[in-house]
Amino acid sequence: MHYYVHIPFCKSRCAYCDFFSTTQLARREAYVDALLCEIALRRNGTASTIYLGGGTPSVLPPDAIRRIIQAIDSSPSPSVEITMEANPGDLTLDTLNALRAVGINRLSIGIQSFQDDLLRMIGRRHNAQQAQQAVRDAQQAGFSNISIDLMYGLPGQSFEQWKTDIETALCLNVQHISCYCLSYETGTRLTRLLQRGEIKEQDDDTLNTMYDYLCEQLKTHGYEHYEVSNFALPRFHSQHNSCYWADKSYIGFGAGAHSYDAERRIRSWNVSDLEPYIAAMKSTNQGLAADQVYEEEQINDEQHRMEQIMLGLRTSSGIPQTLIIDSPALHRYLEEDMIRLANQHYIATQKGIHLLNRIIEDLV
Ligand code: SF4
Repeated sequence: MHYYVHIPFCKSRCAYCDFFSTTQLARREAYVDALLCEIALRRNGTASTIYLGGGTPSVLPPDAIRRIIQAIDSSPSPSVEITMEANPGDLTLDTLNALRAVGINRLSIGIQSFQDDLLRMIGRRHNAQQAQQAVRDAQQAGFSNISIDLMYGLPGQSFEQWKTDIETALCLNVQHISCYCLSYETGTRLTRLLQRGEIKEQDDDTLNTMYDYLCEQLKTHGYEHYEVSNFALPRFHSQHNSCYWADKSYIGFGAGAHSYDAERRIRSWNVSDLEPYIAAMKSTNQGLAADQVYEEEQINDEQHRMEQIMLGLRTSSGIPQTLIIDSPALHRYLEEDMIRLANQHYIATQKGIHLLNRIIEDLV
């Protein structure tokens, strides 16, 4: 089984983020206790992958991470990918050594940019020097499967700065790079600045140029572009994230975490609120039900087909030909080289990726 664990704590909120997280760090211990109750209640067999995401899992002490991993699988095989997301500012050499010792074998480091002015503007707590040092320290601690996150399309970010970020990332010799285009989510600080006219959105041409340059550079340096936003050296694709795109079952623990039962086609999720989650798990521990913080929905055939198209077209494996109904739009996209057909799968081309949302809309 693939397991996700949500750690919804952050030392401060970043200016672009609308994920469920809280700065109430004092509730960490109570939360870990609640997580352990939920894991005991809902775990289902040995782990294929474990992913600790957030929020910021690196705000937890390594011993709490150990207890969570152990509760999920008391003796995971060494081949099980166990990923933890981390912020550069939390990663001292001692912490990294401790994380290796408790079983983390893949780190996903939220760097976002190697430009101090941009990091400040998006509200990240680290600077460029700390970001590079965190990767080097992780390598020194023995991590040989490291992913870093970068962002492009930031307000005021020049193409030269983006080029430098990519060069810096390549010099770090990490195995995996995820790159996300900034999106302005409702209620975030950056969106408010945009609405007040204090910052400007990057135009589509600039975003496309940044993205194409990224793809070309990473490909030249041996990275496989296996999902729209994800690049990996051979054999270093994220096994955990790939399970989401390949319609596999997973169980998510923690406030706001989602689960999916591929066989029964049921998706479920926990309440995105810290205190009700902690209270419910405490009562579960006392033999009471925790349904008030848990919801589920049945995915029907049509929804399932649409979701497979939406997720699959973002990957380099594409989607089985049989999922798409023959239509004039399909022929047009094939003729315009936006999608191609290979081994009975439709795959988005580099040209098509720029218009992926529209293509998906037309084909579902
Ligand atoms: S981007 Fe990450 S660190 Fe920043 S607020 Fe969101 S979850 Fe927390």
